[in-house]
Amino acid sequence: VLPGSADAAGQRATLGVMGGGQLGRMFVHAAQRLGYFTVVLDPDAQSPAGLVSHHHIQTDYGDPAGLAQLSQQCQAITTEFENVPAQALQALAQTRPVAPGAAVVGIAQNRIEEKAHFTACADVSGVSCGPYAVIETPAQLQAVPADLLPGILKTARLGYDGKGQVRVRTAAELAAAWAGLGGVACVLEKLLPLSAECSVLVARGWDGQVVGFAPQRNVHVDGILAVTHAYEGNLPPALASRARDAAVAIAQQLGYVGVLCVEFFVVDDGSAHGALVVNEMAPRPHNSGHYTLDACDVSQFDLQVRAMAGLPLPLPRQHSPAIMLNLLGEVWLDEHGQRREPNWPAVLGLPGTHLHLYGKAQARAGRKMGHLTITGPDVVSVRTVAQRAAALLG
Ligand code: ADP
Ligand code: MG
Repeated sequence: VLPGSADAAGQRATLGVMGGGQLGRMFVHAAQRLGYFTVVLDPDAQSPAGLVSHHHIQTDYGDPAGLAQLSQQCQAITTEFENVPAQALQALAQTRPVAPGAAVVGIAQNRIEEKAHFTACADVSGVSCGPYAVIETPAQLQAVPADLLPGILKTARLGYDGKGQVRVRTAAELAAAWAGLGGVACVLEKLLPLSAECSVLVARGWDGQVVGFAPQRNVHVDGILAVTHAYEGNLPPALASRARDAAVAIAQQLGYVGVLCVEFFVVDDGSAHGALVVNEMAPRPHNSGHYTLDACDVSQFDLQVRAMAGLPLPLPRQHSPAIMLNLLGEVWLDEHGQRREPNWPAVLGLPGTHLHLYGKAQARAGRKMGHLTITGPDVVSVRTVAQRAAALLG
C-alpha cells in the first residue's frame, strides 16, 4: 500500500487497526504522518485512537458488520492489542493483508502456547522459559512439583499489567488461588530472583527481513511497567546481544510479520551477569518501546506501519540516550483520590522532556494515561532530568 496513493475507485490509501488504545493512537499518528488515512475498530466512543483517526468503527471486535466495514475501508490491517479474537483476524485475512496474522496472535494470547513456542525454538534462540507447569485440571494441580513454589499463578489468557496473577507460597495457597481464578487454564511459574528485566522490539516484513532496536531495561512496579532505560550500558553487552538474537529467532520461527516485543528476565543465578530467561511476547508495539518515538530516527510505530504496508524496514538508529517514565492515573490523584492537574509547566521546562498523553478523560490508579520520555546529550544528564521529573510528578 503506497502512502498517498488511491485505487481505481478513488479510495485513498488507508490503514486499519483493531483496537483503539494508546498503542493504536500512536500507530494512527505514525500512519497519518506518512499520508495514510486511518480507520480504528473499537467499541469505545472515546477510545484514544478513535479520537484521532479519520474513521472510527464503533463495534465489538467480533462484530461481522464492523469487520466487513473495516476490510472495505482499508487496504491493510494490524492490531494494537493481543486480545482481539483470533477469529476476527482470520476473517479479515480473507480479503486483506493482516499483520501480524491470526495464528501468531493466537499463540501470543495464550501463555501455554507461548511457552510451548519458546521451548520449541530454544535450540535456535538460545534462551528458555523459566520453570513452570500447566494447570488446566485438578489432576495437574495435584501434580505440581513442590520446587515450583513459591510461584506466580497466571491465567493462560487475558492477563496484562500483572492482572490475572496471584503469588502463592504453598500448595494450599495455590489450590485456593486457582479456585479463586475460577479454575481456568493457568500456568504456575516459579518465582525467580530477578536482577533485571529487559525487552526487545523487532520488526519483520512480508519478505522475512528483520530489523530491531537495542534491548531496553525495564523496571516494573506492582506488575506494571514504570520506567524504561534505553541507552548504551543499560545492560551487560553480552546479555543484550543474546536477548536481541533470541528475539530475532523467535520472530523468524513464527514467520511473524509486524512489530513483536519479547520480554526477558535476567535471573540472579550467582554468575556475573545473571541468566537470561524469556518471559512473554506481545504481537504489537510495546510500552517499553515508546522511547523510540523521541530517541530514534524510526519509531516502533513507524516500523509497524511500514511492515504492514510492505514498505522498506530500515535499521533504526537511536540518536539520543533516553529514559521513559510511565504516567499512571496516580499522577492525577491527590492523597484523597481527588483529581489534580500535574505541574506540566515545570515538567516541560526541564530540558529534553517529551510528554505524550493518550486523551483518556478518567484517571484511575494503575491506568496508563501517558508517558514522559527524557532525551539528552548523555546518560548522566538524562538521569538527572528524569529524577527531577519524577520528583515533580511524585
Ligand atoms: P503481564 O502480562 O501482566 O505483563 P508478566 O508475566 O510480564 O505479565 O508479569 C508482570 C511482571 O511481574 C513481570 O514484568 C515481573 O516484574 C513480575 N514477574 C512475572 N513473573 C515472574 C516470575 N516468574 N518471577 C519473578 N517475577 C515475575
Ligand atoms: Mg509482561
